[in-house]
Amino acid sequence: MAHHTTEVLVIGSGPGGHSAAFRLADLGKKVTLVEKYSDLGGVCLNVGCIPSKALLHVADVINEVNDASEIGVITDSASVDLDKVKAFKNATVRKLSSGVGLMAKGRNVNVVKGEAQFLTKNSVQIGEDIYDFNECIIAAGSRSVELPFIPNEDLRVWNSTDALSIPFIPKRFLVIGGGIIGLEMATIYEALGSKVTIVEFNEQLIPAADKDLIKVYQRYNAKRFDVRLNSKVTEVIADSHALSVTILNDTQASAEEFDAILVAVGRSPNGHLLSGNAIGLEINAQGFIPVNNKMQTNIPHIYAIGDINGPPMLAHKATHEANIAAEVICDHNVVFDVKTIPSIAYTNPEIAWTGITEKEAKHKGINYEVSVFPWSASGRALGANRSEGKTKLIFAKETGLLLGAGIVGINAGELLGELSLAIEFGVNIEDIALTIHAHPTLSESIGLAAEVGLGTIT
Ligand code: FAD
Repeated sequence: MAHHTTEVLVIGSGPGGHSAAFRLADLGKKVTLVEKYSDLGGVCLNVGCIPSKALLHVADVINEVNDASEIGVITDSASVDLDKVKAFKNATVRKLSSGVGLMAKGRNVNVVKGEAQFLTKNSVQIGEDIYDFNECIIAAGSRSVELPFIPNEDLRVWNSTDALSIPFIPKRFLVIGGGIIGLEMATIYEALGSKVTIVEFNEQLIPAADKDLIKVYQRYNAKRFDVRLNSKVTEVIADSHALSVTILNDTQASAEEFDAILVAVGRSPNGHLLSGNAIGLEINAQGFIPVNNKMQTNIPHIYAIGDINGPPMLAHKATHEANIAAEVICDHNVVFDVKTIPSIAYTNPEIAWTGITEKEAKHKGINYEVSVFPWSASGRALGANRSEGKTKLIFAKETGLLLGAGIVGINAGELLGELSLAIEFGVNIEDIALTIHAHPTLSESIGLAAEVGLGTIT
């Protein structure tokens, strides 16, 4: 058993962990970064954000080719070379993952492969070795939730990691859970040729988003997906030719067959998997490790960032928190204090929102107003044959202060940046309306929605 010492030990190399390690090293700390998997980058880079977006790009290309005849471009319908698709996705991941390794090396971050478990408040065990630290940042992330009544060991029952590896293209594909991950996977497999059914327990897909945005998405996709709302899967029986599934809704139970199932019912934090109890680390019942606005746990020299400290489980939240924790450790006077953490479903069309949603505004009894610019009046959207979208602003009735915004449409995620900035800087809709937006762009819809709010256009 070897004994090592480090100033700061970071557990997990995802967006939270590697960003924290790099910031610490840049600020002059001696850092050890521990990762239990052979590849660096965590969920986001290896089995989350990045491979899903590479495959969603493939889906977009397939859909564009298949819809091209609508605008007078005559082609054969798209066919897929699955090996090449996988190679493209894997190469995208590999470039970024090896980049993380190179950046660690460039900063003299000591990367250790293995699983860290707390021994004391100032040490962890990794395999046969012990590492003593002054400070520790836990960035150990989350994992897919499994449903107990499903034969999870069957090779046709997938979590998001399985689905991203594309074991095969199922003819009949069931997605359990109509949240962001479920819908992104549904988008990919529908484009690859699967007939996709989505079962959602709630009365709405992506329950956190505003219903009017989801309605636009669902109308556009009415022919692509069979969506069952207010429904749940209660039984799955696997036999050699199919998975027999019982789907229950308000009124009846139906028995249906599928060739593969994706379970996308949420993610669970890894808080209970680090022996934290042994050192008195506070971990809540769900497995989250609570922190204050400096990212400190109940043990002040141990920090927790990213998925493991609470929702929303998003990479950009993890990286922001990483910088806070690293800088606090280096005695900078900083706290986590943001007005908004944007959310994006990279579906077709995309659904994106930032700041308060209308349903939250209602729930909190805020005196708000909404203005909408429909993309059916946008020259750019019409010219792209994608006028189904809309841009929506939520602002304080008395002052016009922008409180939130939602966009559904192509590139909605890219358009959202301006609105997050606007919320952080406390602008009102008049500021947005007075900002000249280039014509014809999709971002023009933001300026026009502000003008609708001011009543200068109707
Ligand atoms: P993670 O990325 O989960 O990294 C944690 C790391 O810690 C892992 O590598 C793990 O192996 C390691 N680890 C755990 N325990 C130990 C231990 N004891 N010792 C050593 N190492 C350990 N978010 C977005 O913002 N945008 C997206 O588009 C997006 N798409 C997604 C798509 C999918 C399919 C999934 C599953 C997630 C997606 N997410 C997305 C969420 C995003 O991946 C997470 O929010 C993000 O990865 C969290 O970062 P993290 O640093 O907290 O943890």
